[in-house]
Amino acid sequence: MPALSKKPYRVGRSKTGLGLFATKPIKKGTKIIRYFGPMLDCNKKKDDAVENKYLFQISKRWTVDGSVRKNIARYINHACKPNAESDVSVKKRKIIIRAIKNIEPGDEINYDYGTEYFKEYLKPIGCKCDACEKKRKKKRAEARAEKARLKAKAEKKAQRKAAKDAEKASRAKAVKAKGKTTSSKSDAVSSARPRKASPKPVITPAAAPQSEAPAQLAA
Ligand SMILES: [Zn+2]
Repeated sequence: MPALSKKPYRVGRSKTGLGLFATKPIKKGTKIIRYFGPMLDCNKKKDDAVENKYLFQISKRWTVDGSVRKNIARYINHACKPNAESDVSVKKRKIIIRAIKNIEPGDEINYDYGTEYFKEYLKPIGCKCDACEKKRKKKRAEARAEKARLKAKAEKKAQRKAAKDAEKASRAKAVKAKGKTTSSKSDAVSSARPRKASPKPVITPAAAPQSEAPAQLAA
């Protein structure tokens, strides 16, 4: 079908299901595809009752029901920073999707569905367009960095506290040791006497060869 191959797009897999992708370079400003379907007149009860995701309101009165199979443009997904736009001619009741950037083959074609659609359908589930994903990724990375920063800060604080505690402990030890030396001096004096006076403990079996043993025993 040569007519089909002329079209610069194809339906393909996208992040959110199906999407429309460029198969040829599409220049900025070019018409890509028409969004079409039966006209619904909101003044008619039957028309007004129609409800689906592909309704495209073009004026207060008229809405295009784009849910028909032939409307290939219904595959175009929303993007907050799109490469195309919906160009609405209210008079002609026509919707044209037009490139607002140069689009390269392989690029997904998208346009901004508008705030109303965004609020109703996309915000509750989280918009999955590239711009929003990027924003979310950046936020996640920032949150991770902040967490790491706080963790490092807490670790440093703990390290400082540990060092301080160790210093305090060693200072307390030093004070204790000082006290000990003074008391052990008098001990030594007093212990010198019994050691000389009674050599018995020195010769106790096992302990005999150890030079420190007598001091221990004396204390
Ligand atoms: Zn988005």
